[in-house]
Amino acid sequence: MNNKIRKPLVAGNWKMNGNNELVRDFVKCLEKTSDVDVVICPPSCYLTAFEQAQFSLGAQNVSSFTSGAHTGELSTSMLKECKVSYVIVGHSERRENHGEANDIVASKVKAVIEAGLVPILCVGEPLEVRESGQVFDFVKAQLDAVASVCSNTYIELAVIAYEPIWAIGTGKTASPEQAQEVHAFIRKELAQLNASAAQSIRLLYGGSVNASNANELFAQNDIDGGLIGGASLKIEDFTAICQAAS
Ligand code: PEP
Repeated sequence: MNNKIRKPLVAGNWKMNGNNELVRDFVKCLEKTSDVDVVICPPSCYLTAFEQAQFSLGAQNVSSFTSGAHTGELSTSMLKECKVSYVIVGHSERRENHGEANDIVASKVKAVIEAGLVPILCVGEPLEVRESGQVFDFVKAQLDAVASVCSNTYIELAVIAYEPIWAIGTGKTASPEQAQEVHAFIRKELAQLNASAAQSIRLLYGGSVNASNANELFAQNDIDGGLIGGASLKIEDFTAICQAAS
């Protein structure tokens, strides 16, 4: 695909989809790839069903609290007991549907890093922001909120996914140029906080990635893989996307 120094990463976000059968199929059929880090993020009730999987496990959400009266939530230590290594934080569906503002997202990133897990921090703009030409300001505010709580070291320990909201689950992908432009901006912003970490942090693109468009997206200089929703539910498609990243 390219000669980047960063190892590609492809994460599948099953959202509220899947069942025991899909878990079994993935464990049985998803081939191991040594040159791409592959992460599956199933609904949390299936995390422990992935025994001896040839890929890493991710959670779709986490609480910033360690324990207590937080009905329906899971702590980082619980996720660790389920052999989770990555946690998606700040997905636009959590931001929009569960009131997760930038400060809440930032506190979750902090909790995840302090627990020794890797946050996949999602950022990205809604359509009206893109249309008004405010994409960089919008994404910068999302990044700044995390930096203000986590200190600059978070860049060494996180993965960031740029997911334009208008491209999520819509079949409307950002063009490779549009995606690269924002990825380059994110890397430049991070470099102001920590220049060497900004070169090694992996930046993923998410938003209607499929087996046909993955190659071109992943070939962009600052795109190091993808966060995949719908296409992560079909082994053949997801496999093709992982291969495109390799
Ligand atoms: C996502 O949910 O993070 C996502 C990118 O979804 P999709 O690939 O279906 O657009």
